[in-house]
Amino acid sequence: MTETIHCAICGTPINICASHVIRRATCSVECRVPWQRKFEIDPDELLLAVWIEPVTTVAASFDVSDIAIGKRCKRFGVIKPPRGYWAKIQYGASHEQALLALGWAREKIEMLDERLAAAEDSARRAVSNSCEIV
Ligand SMILES: [Zn+2]
Repeated sequence: MTETIHCAICGTPINICASHVIRRATCSVECRVPWQRKFEIDPDELLLAVWIEPVTTVAASFDVSDIAIGKRCKRFGVIKPPRGYWAKIQYGASHEQALLALGWAREKIEMLDERLAAAEDSARRAVSNSCEIV
C-alpha cells in the first residue's frame, strides 16, 4: 500500500510505503542537503525511532547521518539502546531479555517502556493531526 506525502523542502509529491509515512522527508539528493541542515524531529519520535531499529537505519530513513541522530539524542536526553542490543534481538531475545542480559535493572526497563508507550501515544496523535492537514 502506498501513500503520497510532500517533500519537506520543495513540496514535490512522493509515493511511499504507508508504514514509512512519518519518516521519509525529501524527494531527492538535492533536497536532502537543506533538509539535513534543518533536520527536525521531536523527542518522542526520536525515542521511538531508535528503539524500533538501529541508529544507522534510523539515520538513513530520516536522510541524516548517524552523528546527527546521536547528537539529537544527547540534546533531548533520549536513551538509546545499549551496545549489543540489536545483536541480542537478532538472535531472538525479546526487548526485555536483551536489556536484562545487558545489565539493565528491571526498574530501568519499566521506566523506558513507560516512556516508549507515552511517546507512541503522542506520535499517533501527531500522525492523525498531519493527516487532517493533508
Ligand atoms: Zn524535494
